[in-house]
Amino acid sequence: MTPLSAGAAPGTGAGVTRPFVMGQLARDLGAVVGADNVSSDAAALAEQSADWSWMSQFLRYRDLPLPVADVVARPSSTEHVEGIVRIASEYRLPVVPRGGGSGTQGGTFALYGGIAVDLTRMDRIVEIDERSLTVTVQAGVDGSVLEKELNDRGLTMPHYPGSHFFGATIGGSLAARGSGVVSTKYGKAEQLALQVEAVVPPGRRISTLPVPNHASGPDLMQTLIGSEGTLGIITEATMRLDPLPAGRRFLSFQFGTVAAGLETARLIMTRRIVPAAMRLYDEADSARLTSMLDLDTAGVLLILVLDGHESSMAIEEDRIREVCAVSDGRDLGDGPARTWWDGKYEPFAKHNAPAPPLVFGTTDTCARFSALPGLYEAKKRTIEAGFAEYGAQYTAHFSHWFPWGGMIYDRFYVDNAPDDPDEALALHDRLWNAAVETSLANGGVINEHHGVGLKLGRFMRPQYGAAFDVMLAVKNAWDPDGIMNPGKLGFGAPRSGR
Ligand SMILES: Cc1cc2nc3c(=O)[nH]c(=O)nc-3n(C[C@H](O)[C@H](O)[C@H](O)COP(=O)(O)OP(=O)(O)OC[C@H]3O[C@@H](n4cnc5c(N)ncnc54)[C@H](O)[C@@H]3O)c2cc1C
Repeated sequence: MTPLSAGAAPGTGAGVTRPFVMGQLARDLGAVVGADNVSSDAAALAEQSADWSWMSQFLRYRDLPLPVADVVARPSSTEHVEGIVRIASEYRLPVVPRGGGSGTQGGTFALYGGIAVDLTRMDRIVEIDERSLTVTVQAGVDGSVLEKELNDRGLTMPHYPGSHFFGATIGGSLAARGSGVVSTKYGKAEQLALQVEAVVPPGRRISTLPVPNHASGPDLMQTLIGSEGTLGIITEATMRLDPLPAGRRFLSFQFGTVAAGLETARLIMTRRIVPAAMRLYDEADSARLTSMLDLDTAGVLLILVLDGHESSMAIEEDRIREVCAVSDGRDLGDGPARTWWDGKYEPFAKHNAPAPPLVFGTTDTCARFSALPGLYEAKKRTIEAGFAEYGAQYTAHFSHWFPWGGMIYDRFYVDNAPDDPDEALALHDRLWNAAVETSLANGGVINEHHGVGLKLGRFMRPQYGAAFDVMLAVKNAWDPDGIMNPGKLGFGAPRSGR
């Protein structure tokens, strides 16, 4: 296949008009994925660009255009993806992968046009290995569809994000380093992965080693994971499975202060008791949860879910009760935790999800135990005092824990966006700047599980310092033309030549 103006940006080179080049591009892509799987229909392009970021929701709410690709291609195999990336490399056009579009960071915005790659046809379960407890899937498989298939065999792939029923794919979860509600016990998406296959420029399939633990040099798999399409397109992944747990126990406690709840969580984790889920809600977030789930609780709420065999859960429960007594946790019985587990997707259901004209953002971050209490207080102050003139509200819960610390799932809300769209977007940016700068200044990171995308790219250099130049060098070597999801992760625009 010979593109008409290889090397020239569309519409600029050799006197060839943009529509003509785009027509040629569509025909070239059609030869790879089939003409029916290529579209430049305006609605299809807008759908590919959209995600669940506030920016995307706001632009649609105000009937403003999203930054769209020139064409969408829908591959169903790794060979198709190889062909797409090869064509993109020849044309030097951006490639913007999209799984379920449930991301919240503007990662699917096609800021520089190019080819949107809809991965949802790559939805095949390739192999379930019941001896090793692994599953190999194409990257576009919907997590909830996979889970049902596994549950029918008594198995689970224990990654249940709040977006479980928003179409989130396994590829998208790996691309953005996702966390599901039972990550405390089972690990984040990246810890569940054994092996990934990806297509990198100029259209080459690469595969990481069959096992994640090795002494064979730096970790290529963990470099691809979290790269949000900026290094390549993940086409296949092998993930760890677990047997469905034999049983569950539910515990709920109320604390006088967030600090007391945090100390309890710290003791639980550092004594190496590992609940499947442990969620500590500050008063404001506890009130929101209560309103959604009809819980009869108030104040600082700690809910715990244990899973496994009766004998081990009985020991864990005793040890947790001992720790909760240290900080005067009031036992609320199993009710609130059980109600949360049964309704765990409800706070994220479409009718409960915040939406414009509200200005909102989930500024989740993660820190060591020693930094967590100060980080929470600082972020609360930053939003509530710093944006008092807008009546900004702050809510937080702590929901994913590690042996050394935990994450804060915190949000800001401002009731009404300014009428002027530029002012509204500027206010949104200022809130984000304040929140992320406070995280970085208090031992946190820019994000724990939603990824970086367009929204947080500007914080990558301040966060990494000199190490960002090393990351940039990797990106430039890997993707010399900068065509892979340009404008994301702070890696900048496509480059005009090698
Ligand atoms: C209501 C709601 C609740 C949420 N709750 C959670 C939660 O609990 N935990 C959590 O982790 N996240 C959560 N999210 C965020 C989001 O669902 C996750 O980031 C999810 O993993 C994205 O998957 P996706 O397939 O929808 O990816 P998309 O939105 O399609 O893409 C996200 C990013 O990954 C890139 N990408 C997608 N697929 C690939 C691929 N195969 N190869 C390379 N790059 C790719 C895209 O270019 C984009 O930059 C939530 C979102 C919503 C709207």
